[in-house]
Amino acid sequence: MGYYVSLERMNKTINELKKEYKIYAPKRFEKRGWKPNTDLIRYGEIKSVSDIVYDIKSDFSPKEVFYPISQTLLYFTENNCSESSTYDSKDIILFARPCDINAIKRLDNIFLKNGNEEDNYYKRLRDKLKIFMIECREGWDNCFCVSMGSNQTDNYSAAVRFEDNGLLIEAKDDEFGKYFTKETTREFTPEFVQENQKKVKLPKINSMDLLKKIHDLELWESFNDKCLSCGGCNTVCGTCSCFDTTDIIYNETSRDGERRRVWSSCMLEGYSTMAGGHNVRKTAGQRMRFKILHKVYDYNNRFGESEHMCVGCGRCVNRCPQEISFSDTINCLSEEVEKIIREKETTREEANNE
Ligand code: SF4
Ligand code: SF4
Repeated sequence: MGYYVSLERMNKTINELKKEYKIYAPKRFEKRGWKPNTDLIRYGEIKSVSDIVYDIKSDFSPKEVFYPISQTLLYFTENNCSESSTYDSKDIILFARPCDINAIKRLDNIFLKNGNEEDNYYKRLRDKLKIFMIECREGWDNCFCVSMGSNQTDNYSAAVRFEDNGLLIEAKDDEFGKYFTKETTREFTPEFVQENQKKVKLPKINSMDLLKKIHDLELWESFNDKCLSCGGCNTVCGTCSCFDTTDIIYNETSRDGERRRVWSSCMLEGYSTMAGGHNVRKTAGQRMRFKILHKVYDYNNRFGESEHMCVGCGRCVNRCPQEISFSDTINCLSEEVEKIIREKETTREEANNE
């Protein structure tokens, strides 16, 4: 069932919803962009429908709503340890685009299905999420969600299309249908982007032998001078999940403190340094190799199905201060892989002809 809701009526509904939910959506933060005199679009709690920035791709993904940048896991004293809690009894409504909803599915696999135990700190916020899908019919220059198969989803409680003076709403879950029963009914089925300007060809990696050859490609070395190892690409990504844990002691003479986990990045120089000082990925090129393969090979190898970790949102391309294109790098890798396969076939044919 679809509804047309005027902006005025939607604000009344948002006020009603706020009694039971905290509502997060992409918001504008003036003059906070990483380039001078630009605004930042990132997720924050909204008060009214006019707070929602729906016509620009957000600079950051929604993951910070349910996987916070810094999260206290536990508190400790000399003799005791107690787990942190989320305190808030309200559930969360999250306005998100299809690629970002698919990214949440990737994080669910990583935090909830990657071993015998679920990550409780992730789960307790994730369980609160109710998703309102922002319809996305065109995308932007750097999007390649269609190539990644993440342009569509039916994993939402409600879907919205923003029009000039109101919204079209599909309330899929009864939980939210009751908020719109007094609105004008209007046929509305959300549409999805069918073609992006940017297209990505995924590498077909089907043997350990091929993987070893990919490991040694010269392609990776080209990033040693170019990539700054700043980690900006990881922070904007909706599927990057790595964190560091840090114990904070409240003052110098105290044994009381708390343990926090804080977002980290596989592109940072010290990220892969182990106890004893050995660093398994010393150069920016090695770190780029790890990131690319994680996004378009390792995750899929671990979790199966047809999906890759990267959902093609293109945010890392927008964010990189060195204009390193993640999508172009995948295409370069695919070309290199095809070259290796061709060379192998030529060698085999020559051997057969001898
Ligand atoms: S395009 Fe970049 S930021 Fe977006 S999901 Fe893929 S790796 Fe992450
Ligand atoms: S690829 Fe770009 S954003 Fe990512 S670490 Fe390197 S310089 Fe920073």
